[in-house]
Amino acid sequence: MRRMLSLALLLLLLGGCAPAAAPVPVEAGNFLLDTYVSIRLYDGDEETAREALELCRTYETIFSRTDADSELARLNRRESDTVSQELADVIALGLEYGRLTGGAFDITMGTVTRLWDFHAQEPAPPEAAAVAEALTHVGWEKVHVEGTSVRFDDPETVLDLGGIAKGYIADRLAEYLRAEGVTSAIIDLGGNLCCIGRRPDGRDFQVGIRRPEGEQSQSIGTLPIRDRSVVTSGWYERCFTLDGTVYHHILSPSTGWPAETGLASVTIVSGLGADGDALSTACFVLGQEAGLALVESLEGVEAVFIGRDLTVTVSSGLAGRFSPL
Ligand code: ADP
Ligand code: MG
Repeated sequence: MRRMLSLALLLLLLGGCAPAAAPVPVEAGNFLLDTYVSIRLYDGDEETAREALELCRTYETIFSRTDADSELARLNRRESDTVSQELADVIALGLEYGRLTGGAFDITMGTVTRLWDFHAQEPAPPEAAAVAEALTHVGWEKVHVEGTSVRFDDPETVLDLGGIAKGYIADRLAEYLRAEGVTSAIIDLGGNLCCIGRRPDGRDFQVGIRRPEGEQSQSIGTLPIRDRSVVTSGWYERCFTLDGTVYHHILSPSTGWPAETGLASVTIVSGLGADGDALSTACFVLGQEAGLALVESLEGVEAVFIGRDLTVTVSSGLAGRFSPL
């Protein structure tokens, strides 16, 4: 239940059309991908929503970090060097973001991320020596994808696609729904949101961005969204406090420790969720100045940065569009 309440993005259907004219949305939801997944269709049937959820389950068998039988887990054990097209595509895209972000986003952080257990009863940070050793196997340049074959320079390198897979999966679900003729829908993979079309009344969806502190259901402001993906990475998603220090799950590949850049969250608005997912994690690691410069250099990508002090900064394309609450 906690995960369900901790969704980074809260969909606010503000305003509204006359109730008598509003079609009743159909919804399918479940705990999948280590979060609460919900699919809401404004012009589709229950069967289609359920099928989309089923598709999510299929992707989980490829990308899951926790399932020892997932295709990713088998690749990490080097049981095969040929993978599915889907896995090859996400690894290739992840490596591209490694290049684009100068290594701030790095899918080879697996040896480091597996040292952390944020779900433990009494979570504790790993030993510094273990982090230092794990870091020697990190480096996106050590992985190569050709077609569907994946080659590792370092036999110990472990891939962690937790910063990009959900965005990719949201894109695949959107593709499926559009092919089924759906024109108005919200796919919510816990912090990874994809809006198909507009609200049934023709207005934009109003997407709330979570206030990093206080009530989990509170928004700090809203954005009007149509046919875009909205993905947030926040330190509060998985974290614990020990002796006054907050340890969270977005790690700096240069130190191996939680990225401390004065940010509480970064939200990316983009055409594809996979780009938004990678970029939200990357911008969190890069910090506001370098993150904003990166976003401004990319076509069709916008961002909302929220500082630990709750200051809100938006990229140029969102100027005047963020409504504080
Ligand atoms: P979530 O939506 O699950 O909160 P994010 O998109 O914010 O996840 O990405 C954080 C996850 O990505 C971590 O849980 C970890 O699996 C992985 N990760 C952590 N640091 C990095 C990094 N610097 N580059 C790539 N992936 C990372
Ligand atoms: Mg991400």
